[in-house]
Amino acid sequence: MNKKEKVLAIREIFNELYPEAGCSLDYTNPLHLLIATQLAAQCTDARVNLVTPALFARYPTARDFANADILELQEYIRSTGFFRNKSKNIIACCQMLDEKFGGKVPDTMEELTSLPGVGRKTANIIIGDIYHKPAIVVDTHAKRITNRLGLTVNTDPTKIEFDLLKIVPPDYSATFCHQLVYHGRALCKAQRPACGECPVAHLCDAFTKPALLTRYQGKKKEASY
Ligand code: SF4
Repeated sequence: MNKKEKVLAIREIFNELYPEAGCSLDYTNPLHLLIATQLAAQCTDARVNLVTPALFARYPTARDFANADILELQEYIRSTGFFRNKSKNIIACCQMLDEKFGGKVPDTMEELTSLPGVGRKTANIIIGDIYHKPAIVVDTHAKRITNRLGLTVNTDPTKIEFDLLKIVPPDYSATFCHQLVYHGRALCKAQRPACGECPVAHLCDAFTKPALLTRYQGKKKEASY
């Protein structure tokens, strides 16, 4: 079985296991998802969802964020951590959105990553979940599980992204990444994966080669990625 065939077989099982898999950040428009994703760095999605209703009521548009008083903005997002840097980036990002993109969130990797504080991961979330174009989001779950499954041998997120783009059907790419997060939380945990209960074990390289499992056992370095 080649890697493309393996992904198709995994898709069958994941669609049964995690039919509801999707973005766990609350948002009602592209700008809100962009801001929420930036707040989610080094923070849980649940914590971000507690903060964003008041935040988006206070700053409904990119121009509102662009003109925000940084100290006031910091208070709204303080509990998400790294609030000084996040505030600075959000204001700079929204200034560029307002001045260069007419307040609209762009839909290409090049334009998105030109925004302050927006990296490939955030850009891919927007491209996949908002614009429904092929996009691979490589977070700590995707990195660990795709290595264990044998879909990549890389640890660099951008290399993993390009490896997966070659083998994951374009219309399944965003869903696949959400399902990897669900699988990582439910069974394929960093330290003690529940391989004995895992419905994709027969497709998993780490299950048949325990040395691989040890290699991707989630070291501190990986956890902080
Ligand atoms: S068999 Fe184990 S390592 Fe492989 S995907 Fe399932 S839980 Fe993860």
